[in-house]
Amino acid sequence: MTTEHITIAGAGLAGALLGVFLARRGHEVELFERRPDMRQHNISAGRSINLALADRGIHALQAAGVFDAIEPLMIPMPGRMLHDLSGNLSFQKYGRLDDEINYSISRGELNKVLMTAAEETGRVNIRFNTRCDDYDIKSGLLTMTDESSQEQIKVKTSVVFGCDGASSPIRNALVRQCKFVVSEEPLAHAYKELAIPPGKSGEWRIEKNALHIWPRGGFMLIALPNLDGSFTVTLFLPVTGNPSFNSLESESEVEKFFSEQFPDALAQITDLAKDFFSNPMGMLGTIRCNQWQADGRAALLGDAAHAVVPFHGQGMNCAFEDCLELDRLIEQHGKDWVRILPDFEKARVANANAIADMALENYIEMRDIVRDPRFQLQKQLEFLLEEKFPERFIPRYSMVMFHQEIPYTEAKNRGKIQKAILQQLTESATTLDKIDLTLAERLVNEKLDLLR
Ligand code: FAD
Repeated sequence: MTTEHITIAGAGLAGALLGVFLARRGHEVELFERRPDMRQHNISAGRSINLALADRGIHALQAAGVFDAIEPLMIPMPGRMLHDLSGNLSFQKYGRLDDEINYSISRGELNKVLMTAAEETGRVNIRFNTRCDDYDIKSGLLTMTDESSQEQIKVKTSVVFGCDGASSPIRNALVRQCKFVVSEEPLAHAYKELAIPPGKSGEWRIEKNALHIWPRGGFMLIALPNLDGSFTVTLFLPVTGNPSFNSLESESEVEKFFSEQFPDALAQITDLAKDFFSNPMGMLGTIRCNQWQADGRAALLGDAAHAVVPFHGQGMNCAFEDCLELDRLIEQHGKDWVRILPDFEKARVANANAIADMALENYIEMRDIVRDPRFQLQKQLEFLLEEKFPERFIPRYSMVMFHQEIPYTEAKNRGKIQKAILQQLTESATTLDKIDLTLAERLVNEKLDLLR
């Protein structure tokens, strides 16, 4: 009998959680991570300092038995706090129900807990400073480089999982050898992270329990709370044009831009010019891959398979859901990877494409449409329809964020029908009491199937 040798490339959010799931099913796993161990070295955790964790992600973390260690790191964000140009605030609840909440969490702390949980299973060995360069599907050979010594390492693997992020070398190897078709759509907007530090006594200087948005039409600023009283502030702006990252060339231009567009935020951001010019500009984009597995021997998961723009706060949540789906299939098919991996691909590709589309749409909603009175009326109407017809109508945002049992594809399809219903019902009405509820009932019953 041959011994199975399972490897994972990348100990980021997806790779570390996948390690936990595989170990719990009895597999021995080698996990190779390019960076040093962030539990021992003070390094950046990667693409954003904090992120929004939602129902899909939480469900996967619970299923992996790691949620208890993660819960203390989470800050509830029950809604968006909108900041207008004059600094007036308005709060929009995310969901109708009080327990429909997203959570802000530190990427680094979450990743550390997941790595430790993987190691504590006793079946996962993480090798840091080890960069995967290439993979040969015929021989199963993984070629790597030790980042400290630059020595080349070759490891033979029965099954490899590419959890090596958006620029995945494993994906590149599969594109070359197995003709995977990948599409990359860069976004013309990029991001830069800034900070609002804690107040003098460590307090949060703006509302702690909200995701703050300064929507300005063609661009926006957002802020998510951290446990130490600070906020991570992210500016999303076009790369070229005016205003853009290219047009803001001097400290005075940046100060002027913030004082005109985000005056109340500027009052709280202490090191604006320093952070603006020393922090990197992060590029954004969507990566879609028509295949996620080859021959039951290699599979992609997380951003390696489906990088999405961050405007629905679902990239990591979707990656965690990938892990959970794979775990379900392992439960069903045991060690039969030739059945597990194709079924995994079948279950996930369309769903990843659906969340990629919805994330792109949500950028326009966040930076612009949230300010529109008709949108605000439609939000109220969505909650009313959900309350009246819960077996057929759930707002699309809620389906994505708070209903892990509804696949992304279904949320997208139902969302499209619901949008048409909302448009029709708010055509002439400007307040909720003017909505024709008899027509609403007829449209909902005619156009929307019962939810499963
Ligand atoms: P990554 O987190 O990129 O991890 C990949 C890992 O592989 C890293 O540890 C990396 O060092 C390692 N690696 C890379 N190359 C190699 C190699 N050659 N060999 C070995 N190791 C390698 N998602 C949400 O759900 N909610 C949010 O609010 C949210 N906000 C975001 C905000 C921004 C600005 C951005 C850019 C993204 C955001 N996301 C969010 C998306 C989220 O960051 C990703 O979907 C998530 O990190 C994917 O996890 P991953 O493990 O697949 O990839």
